[in-house]
Amino acid sequence: MSESAKEGHAKEGHEGGCLCGAVRFRASGPPLWVSHCHCDDCRRACGAAVATFVGVAVESYRILAVPPVEYRSSPGVTRSFCGTCGTPLTYVAKKYPGEVHIMVGAFDKPEAFKPGAHVFADYRLPWLHLEDGLPSFDRLPPGREDG
Ligand SMILES: [Zn+2]
Ligand SMILES: [Zn+2]
Repeated sequence: MSESAKEGHAKEGHEGGCLCGAVRFRASGPPLWVSHCHCDDCRRACGAAVATFVGVAVESYRILAVPPVEYRSSPGVTRSFCGTCGTPLTYVAKKYPGEVHIMVGAFDKPEAFKPGAHVFADYRLPWLHLEDGLPSFDRLPPGREDG
């Protein structure tokens, strides 16, 4: 992507991939939201204290190279990762139709995405102190709760 692309979310979108480079993807268009998830499923799936996701419309997400491996982590939830290096890549759930949640760390330029909230904050690890001023929700923001 050219360095002259304006800051933000240029029409050409954002590319990313896994650690070994086998899986490559592109997300076009602006993100729907960016959130830090503290839930224990995401924590384990990513092996990290917190998982930061970029929500994009499913039609804007394209696999460019080797497709990732998919894993049903709970009913209605599919997570994907590179079958070679194991990099976690996406989360797709029936309860969020039309969305793909992409791990921000898999993007080539994760700094392009500014998080807007902490979700499932009641699962936050007690030694992780975050004073970034972002709204924090015990579970999900109003309107995002599953029915
Ligand atoms: Zn890989
Ligand atoms: Zn989560």
